[in-house]
Amino acid sequence: MSNTRALIDLGRLQANAAAFMAASPEGLDLMAVVKANAYGHGATACARALRDVGATAFAVATLAEAEHLRRAQIDEPILVFAPPLPDQLPAFQELSLDVSITNLDLLASISSGFPDLLRRGHIKFDTGMARVGLQPGEVGAMADILRKSGVDPKAFWTHLAFSANRPDHQTREQVAVFRSCLAECGVAAPAVHLLNTGGFLHHPELRCEYEGQSFSRIGIGLYGVAHTENAPDPPLQPVMKVVSRILQVKTVPKGAGVSYGHTWHAPTDRWIATVGAGYADGVPRLLSNRGWVGHEESGDHYPIVGNVCMDMFMIDLGPTDRVREAPTIRVGDEVVLVGDGGPDARAVAAWAETIAYEVCTGISPRVERHYVNPDVVY
Ligand SMILES: *Cc1c(COP(=O)(O)O)cnc(C)c1O
Repeated sequence: MSNTRALIDLGRLQANAAAFMAASPEGLDLMAVVKANAYGHGATACARALRDVGATAFAVATLAEAEHLRRAQIDEPILVFAPPLPDQLPAFQELSLDVSITNLDLLASISSGFPDLLRRGHIKFDTGMARVGLQPGEVGAMADILRKSGVDPKAFWTHLAFSANRPDHQTREQVAVFRSCLAECGVAAPAVHLLNTGGFLHHPELRCEYEGQSFSRIGIGLYGVAHTENAPDPPLQPVMKVVSRILQVKTVPKGAGVSYGHTWHAPTDRWIATVGAGYADGVPRLLSNRGWVGHEESGDHYPIVGNVCMDMFMIDLGPTDRVREAPTIRVGDEVVLVGDGGPDARAVAAWAETIAYEVCTGISPRVERHYVNPDVVY
């Protein structure tokens, strides 16, 4: 058993997914985004749990991630967000994957060499993210290629660059560009999609915006760490909790330096505990002298003192006189680094000057994933 564990509550994952589905208008299905090992939560277990509550499609970032899900008998449509490189097209075909078509060259080579793949093609327009996608000026040339091929693609789609922000003039602009691209297509595609979690939560009016909009692409919201302030429903619960164990408890005298570089000195005689997790587990080094961890038995919070090391960090239990009277934490106890009973992923992200996505996906493979619902076995 590893010292540091990620406890994954698949019941909460399912409840979050159900909440998105309940808030979706008729015809808007959940394409569950399980890229990056389901944002660190375990792609196979999450995909199976999500399928059981009605996710009809999945999305991942890369071909390798899709292959992993196919091997685990996830037979639903899987969209790979990254555009395929030319040598990967046969694998897309073989694994029956949905393919992102993001430029005219790719469209031309798929329509000439892989017409079956074009039927599973999601043609992406760059409406303002400037990452991947056809430029609005290329829609006419796209329509020509499609007409010549005689094959209808599966979807037209785009991606929002500002979805969690209000005021939302950038989103409005992207939506207007997308609308005009669709109008210019002149080609039928059964599906349209544009909403990620932020778009779904913060722009509820867009859930019904498009004729033919058939999917929302929800990632972070499923894992319950979305930015939900000022957003209407659905309510979400965090799925992951990261815990680690106390390896040693000791006293240090007033003035003693702690950890590499002695960036913290004991202001009085202190009780210091050493926790068995570090930046190689995904505890950001920026939490040095900034973050805290929770101890559920006592309900106490303890600040991280000194630099976070690769595999351990120290917490301050307080002055020796106080804690000696009421010691609350012992060797072997668990402390909560992220999740219920500790700071949430968004608090950790704020300390680490990043976003909750990076905190979740940064929980490293060394951290064992444990699925905590005895009644849900995947
Ligand atoms: C990651 C991703 C999503 C999901 O985004 P969330 O903010 O996690 O909901 C949707 N669409 C694309 C293209 C993505 O890359």
